[in-house]
Amino acid sequence: MSRDTAAIVIIGGGIMGMSIAYQIARRSDMSVVVLEKGIGLGEGSTGGSSAITRQRYSQVESIRVARDGNVVWRNWSEYTGLAEPAGRFHNIGVLWMMDQDADDVAKDRDRLVQEGVDAVMVDAAELSRLYPGVSACMVPFDLTGEIAHECADGDAFLIERDTGFFDATGALLDVATAAKGRGVDVRMGTEVVGVTVNAGRAGGVTLADGSTIGAGLVINAAGPWCNRINTMAGLELPWSLVPTRVQVIYRDLPPEVPRPIPVVGDAAGGIYFRPEAGDGQIILGSILEEDELETADPDNFNTAADRSFIDLKIHALHHRLPALPHVGVPGGMASLYTVNRQDVLPIVGPTAIDGFAVANGFSGHGFKESQMIGSMMAQWITGERADFDTDVPMEFFAVDRDPIELDAHTVLA
Ligand SMILES: Cc1cc2nc3c(=O)[nH]c(=O)nc-3n(C[C@H](O)[C@H](O)[C@H](O)COP(=O)(O)OP(=O)(O)OC[C@H]3O[C@@H](n4cnc5c(N)ncnc54)[C@H](O)[C@@H]3O)c2cc1C
Repeated sequence: MSRDTAAIVIIGGGIMGMSIAYQIARRSDMSVVVLEKGIGLGEGSTGGSSAITRQRYSQVESIRVARDGNVVWRNWSEYTGLAEPAGRFHNIGVLWMMDQDADDVAKDRDRLVQEGVDAVMVDAAELSRLYPGVSACMVPFDLTGEIAHECADGDAFLIERDTGFFDATGALLDVATAAKGRGVDVRMGTEVVGVTVNAGRAGGVTLADGSTIGAGLVINAAGPWCNRINTMAGLELPWSLVPTRVQVIYRDLPPEVPRPIPVVGDAAGGIYFRPEAGDGQIILGSILEEDELETADPDNFNTAADRSFIDLKIHALHHRLPALPHVGVPGGMASLYTVNRQDVLPIVGPTAIDGFAVANGFSGHGFKESQMIGSMMAQWITGERADFDTDVPMEFFAVDRDPIELDAHTVLA
């Protein structure tokens, strides 16, 4: 049933908005309305997500957020309270082939292990034993195929053994179901066109049909559309939150390619990939900043993958999986995520406008972080703790923080 007031209105029913709603409902009776302009779930970033749940990050807080999120992915049924959830965790491991020497890989392993991640270092022989289909070559090669390539194995590789990937739309459906089961009012096909602000305080939203919903707190969880909502509220930010087009390729994975295939981050090819569709397919994307394409209008961009992107990245995949036959036509698609150009980290929490909060700018990290961002927001809003909470302070992602110094501004930051 429609309400015209609620304690909390969340704009956007992607994985972030839905998680915040569920996390609030897990610990309080506050009335929560989620407004989603799409008619189906996952029409934004979440629907296109590769949903890899790796924990190797440069910032210790990001490692902890991912680690605490993995506890949720591993205990999904208990966390959601759903006996038969739609989403499933695939704990197939994440293999990092980042062209580091053994000393640097050992440092990476140690800092992850210190945070409770099950990370190990392996050499090329052990890599081939664990993953016989994966080449250990770390010689950068010419993707056009014009320069002859001679393979040579890398020295050391890192494996996160306690993670892998989740099913993004299954997770979104589950969190929506769990939230609704706890009384959250999820309204699909409902577009917010205005945010009411009086004397520096947000008081609610206006919908496309002209109706209004009053709220004590309005939360912008609108993914790549976040700037529009912030503009509606009159919020000026020092951050550049850029809707960014990213492409993903699908390729059949026939039985002749030796299994298992883990999630792979491959610096020699500039790609990441993982199995999909019950191990019968590979999903592949880029880890290079140059492949992140700024998009002015999140409602108007090319949703097909570029032929040139497919052709180049498929070479990289064949280099890494030498037994993959050169037959068939790979498919691809493009979707958007939102990159915070200053430091690639999201902005989360209250803003300069009372009663208006944001959870924006998650780049390629938002799926894995979603449940712990929900945890932080819900702890702040309700003052209550619940099981599966994180101890990482929301202030690490505060809107009024200084940009964090990073060596690289890529999706791997
Ligand atoms: C190709 C790709 C691969 C990725 N891979 C990974 C990965 O491996 N691991 C990982 O952790 N993350 C990954 N990500 C990132 C992750 O998917 C996103 O960070 C995350 O899904 C963001 O969720 P969100 O809820 O903030 O945004 P969205 O899912 O975009 O949700 C926002 C919602 O707001 C709605 N909305 C917008 N405006 C309005 C309005 N005015 N009124 C009402 N509703 C509105 C939209 O319809 C949308 O459904 C990937 C993303 C992409 C695109």
